[in-house]
Amino acid sequence: MPHGKPAGVRCVQLDDADRCRIFGRPERPAFCAGLKPSAEMCGETREQAMVWLARLERETAPELAPAPRPAAALARRV
Ligand code: SF4
Repeated sequence: MPHGKPAGVRCVQLDDADRCRIFGRPERPAFCAGLKPSAEMCGETREQAMVWLARLERETAPELAPAPRPAAALARRV
């Protein structure tokens, strides 16, 4: 993905069996190649791994910018 993979977006390199199409190839991102799986990360089932990943995404997500104020609220301040 030329601009990186946004959180929560399925990587375009995953095939239908959730396997990386570019595993072991030089074009695989360095981050992916450097990620070492662990028992904590993978658990014993796919479901356990997905729970861990969802928690990791929540805890590392950047804070969202405050929502823009509606025009009516801004007009009252003038
Ligand atoms: S290892 Fe990296 S490139 Fe491969 S499917 Fe996963 S996120 Fe995509």
